[in-house]
Amino acid sequence: MKNRKELSLADYMKAQENGRENLGTELPVAVYRLLEYSLREELSARFGKEEQIDIFRSAGFRAGTYFAEKYLDSSLELSEFTSQLQKRLEEFKMGVLRIEKFDEETGKMVLTVSEDADCSGLPLLGETVCNYDEGFLAGILTSYTGRVYNATEVNCWATGDRVCRFRADIEE
Ligand SMILES: [Zn+2]
Repeated sequence: MKNRKELSLADYMKAQENGRENLGTELPVAVYRLLEYSLREELSARFGKEEQIDIFRSAGFRAGTYFAEKYLDSSLELSEFTSQLQKRLEEFKMGVLRIEKFDEETGKMVLTVSEDADCSGLPLLGETVCNYDEGFLAGILTSYTGRVYNATEVNCWATGDRVCRFRADIEE
């Protein structure tokens, strides 16, 4: 096709603001999970599990970066910034965020998300599944601090916990 334009994530996100006059802007969690877990299965079947996890993490990072730029005020000091983040995540019904620990010197952080959209209610799988969220949180923290963060999920519904717990560190 001629004149085909490559759209960025931000372009696609902008387009959803109108166009659903009757159905509106919200969808059930089931639709989100249908997309997420079908993609997970497909990527895992094609490229293997390790690559699938890496793709989810990277995509989450892009989303987190976008989210921070669009919906958060990075000029706020940390406590105000995190309360704004908590509010936004609840508004979007993504989950209920708590900052469990923060070490000012090292920048290390422990965050929990309860009622997480990705995994709440999942059966015990013996592994964490919220790799997209790992990237998402890392993207937000990176965007806010200007330092590259990694986040690793250490507890999850899928490991038998009632909250998802993430350790976030600045990349060396
Ligand atoms: Zn989880």
